[in-house]
Amino acid sequence: MDFREVASNEKMDGFRKEVRAWLEKNVPEEMKNPVDSDDRHEERYHFWREKNKELGAKGWLYPTFPKQYGGGGLSAEHVDVLIEEFHAYGAPYAKRPNYLAGVLLVWGTEEQRQEFLVPLVKGEMIGYNKYTEPHSGSDLASYQSTAVKDGDMWVLNGSNAFPGGHEDETNAVYFGPMLTDKEAPRHRNLGFFMVPYPTPGLTFKRMNTLQGTGQCFIYLDDVRVPNENLVGGDHQGWQVMGTALEQEHGGNGTNYHEEKPIDNLVSYMQRNRKEGKIPGGDPVLQQIAAEAWNEFHSVSIMDTRVTWMYHNKIKMQWEGPVTFVYARINTLRNAARIREVMGMYALLGAHDPLAPQGGAQEVHQRNSLQAQHGSGSFNISKVVAARRIGISRTREQAAPTPNTATNFGV
Ligand SMILES: Cc1cc2nc3c(=O)[nH]c(=O)nc-3n(C[C@H](O)[C@H](O)[C@H](O)COP(=O)(O)OP(=O)(O)OC[C@H]3O[C@@H](n4cnc5c(N)ncnc54)[C@H](O)[C@@H]3O)c2cc1C
Repeated sequence: MDFREVASNEKMDGFRKEVRAWLEKNVPEEMKNPVDSDDRHEERYHFWREKNKELGAKGWLYPTFPKQYGGGGLSAEHVDVLIEEFHAYGAPYAKRPNYLAGVLLVWGTEEQRQEFLVPLVKGEMIGYNKYTEPHSGSDLASYQSTAVKDGDMWVLNGSNAFPGGHEDETNAVYFGPMLTDKEAPRHRNLGFFMVPYPTPGLTFKRMNTLQGTGQCFIYLDDVRVPNENLVGGDHQGWQVMGTALEQEHGGNGTNYHEEKPIDNLVSYMQRNRKEGKIPGGDPVLQQIAAEAWNEFHSVSIMDTRVTWMYHNKIKMQWEGPVTFVYARINTLRNAARIREVMGMYALLGAHDPLAPQGGAQEVHQRNSLQAQHGSGSFNISKVVAARRIGISRTREQAAPTPNTATNFGV
């Protein structure tokens, strides 16, 4: 059965009403998502940090996670309802849980789960991945920032580009690989570390990105963390990373697909009347918009299938990474189609009085570009997908990583 059907059936009505009531009671207008992420302000960040603690206490932040770790013990249908309702209300809700949570379920010791997983799931702690270094992002195995053992501690040195972060955050954790053995071969020379913030030696500088999502440079100067903050063995970091990257590279899928840009395009076709004509009356533009709509929905169906497989723990080989590649291609193609239909109006931003639809399409244009880089570059997702299918240079078929789902969906 399709998740969407499940989520919209009567069984979930009570829960849907409960979520709506919470949103109406708790989210003032000024704390909703602005059209342009660049307009997000610090006050809003802190508001949602606090609200996430409330959501965490209700088990709504990580709905499917086991109750023993602070999760909701709920089903995949509950996740769908939460995402749908939050998005419909204009409130932020992550489509996927923080990747560290899945890593700790697969690789963490019980002590690590208590110290890091429980506060993450309860919303008390926030997690940021630190993978990309200034010299390289795609080739993660070339990681150069070092971790050197000193008794029961590790001393970390290096830097990253692009992680998220807030300087005045009081309880965060950065996670990712560090080079533990310069002599060991590639893929066997890394450890996977959790670095709490604030901690002495870990500093920030803001990046100014196209999308305005608050990325940073971070610097680690003799940062000391205990051995307990190493997840897996000190040469096992690449395998541990696999669990994090599988989630990031489409392995969890999602049943929620942001239809706004396509809906906006369709409504522009129908309503933008000039000299008595609408774009929808032009057969060429009709064709372009129909292609955009069809391709968007093909991706959605593939992604829904992935999330259905994921939650039901059906063995997946290539489904997530292939869907991820297709989704990225589609985002870019649809941005071009939107420009063809709307012309330069698609490039007028949220603060331009002439911008159609509040400037939402301009934001989508920028997002479609950044979507080719975040989570590893587009070319690398093609390499990952090719390996899973067995059509990469070596022709070997890469094994799937362990499933991180914590419930049975349907
Ligand atoms: C909005 C945004 C958010 C991000 N968030 C995070 C974050 O939270 N944490 C984090 O660690 N990083 C984050 N990143 C960084 C992102 O993961 C990197 O940008 C990405 O991995 C690419 O790395 P790079 O920028 O160093 O480019 P490079 O790896 O230097 O790639 C440059 C170009 O070369 C191509 N290329 C590289 N290798 C190959 C190859 N083998 N075959 C073919 N072509 C290749 C790439 O496709 C690309 O076009 C974010 C990036 C963006 C844009």
